[in-house]
Amino acid sequence: MKAIYVREPHSLEIVELPEPAAGAGEVLVRVGAAGICGSDMHIYHGTNPLAKYPRIIGHEFAGEIVAMGPGVGGLSVGDHVAVDPVTSCGTCYPCSIGRRNVCTKLSVFGVHRDGGMTGFVAVPAAGAHVVPRDWSWKKAAMVEPFSIAANVLSRTQCTEKDRVLVMGAGPIGLTVLMGAVLTGARVAVADVLDSRLEVARELGAERVVNGGRMDLEREMADWTDGEGVPLIVDAVCIPAIFPSLLRMASPAGRVAHLGFSETPSPVVPLEITKKELSIVGSRLNCNMFPRVIEWFGKGIDPEKLVSHVFPFTQARDAFRLIEEKPLETCKVLLTFQG
Ligand code: MN
Ligand code: ZN
Repeated sequence: MKAIYVREPHSLEIVELPEPAAGAGEVLVRVGAAGICGSDMHIYHGTNPLAKYPRIIGHEFAGEIVAMGPGVGGLSVGDHVAVDPVTSCGTCYPCSIGRRNVCTKLSVFGVHRDGGMTGFVAVPAAGAHVVPRDWSWKKAAMVEPFSIAANVLSRTQCTEKDRVLVMGAGPIGLTVLMGAVLTGARVAVADVLDSRLEVARELGAERVVNGGRMDLEREMADWTDGEGVPLIVDAVCIPAIFPSLLRMASPAGRVAHLGFSETPSPVVPLEITKKELSIVGSRLNCNMFPRVIEWFGKGIDPEKLVSHVFPFTQARDAFRLIEEKPLETCKVLLTFQG
């Protein structure tokens, strides 16, 4: 089988590797499609401190079960599945309280272990989530990106009563927007690119703000009649704007972080205390695949975020396109079979 292989930072190869076999409790998946994520770009460029090399990348993937290892129930050969890339130990403190996505021995497909940009991959049966057979591989591969949104909206207990400010209208910000809109919340989106804000508007944002030209804090005060925003999801993660997020939050508000920046951010503790803010991190997803599969059945069309699809043989072209034309690409997928 062929695999997209990052031997070391800055190298991207298509290599021939032996097909894996499904071990106990695993199923063998023939990959249909895999999404390229910002974090794949970081592994490629050597800027993901968590990645180990060499590595078959890809954590956003779906395919068909072609073989089952011993001890697997509830799944069948021929099932179409979206694969949760999170694997966990099951016994550490976070696992013991149901927070497996921050397991102390966390292992993520495509990051800490070989991933899904390949012909075949053996995965734990528990992480293989059956999707309807009439879904395209494109659609099925989008479950993981939307699981990021489902997780942050779960962590912050977003409801239909919320007003949500989503910082950033890139692929992640747009999934959060779509999930929040489906939940029934009213959503504003901030970005510095009008073209992206246009997309956010089409996907249901009631207010869009170009933070490059407009005063976002004033806009949000206006939007909320001065109360502040109950829920802010930061999918931009520029540390310098974090204090502004705290100022914009309403009393009893929540501010959620999705970024991986290591740059410190100055915080005014008084903002947190006097308004009793909850500041939460959200990483990957914690058992959110069933919810996302439900979302896709309830009207979220994830293919709206897919800007390009390449056969995996053109992976280099796909990576180059993302680098050279970031404004023209949203989610770029690789297909591994017809
Ligand atoms: Mn991703
Ligand atoms: Zn654990």
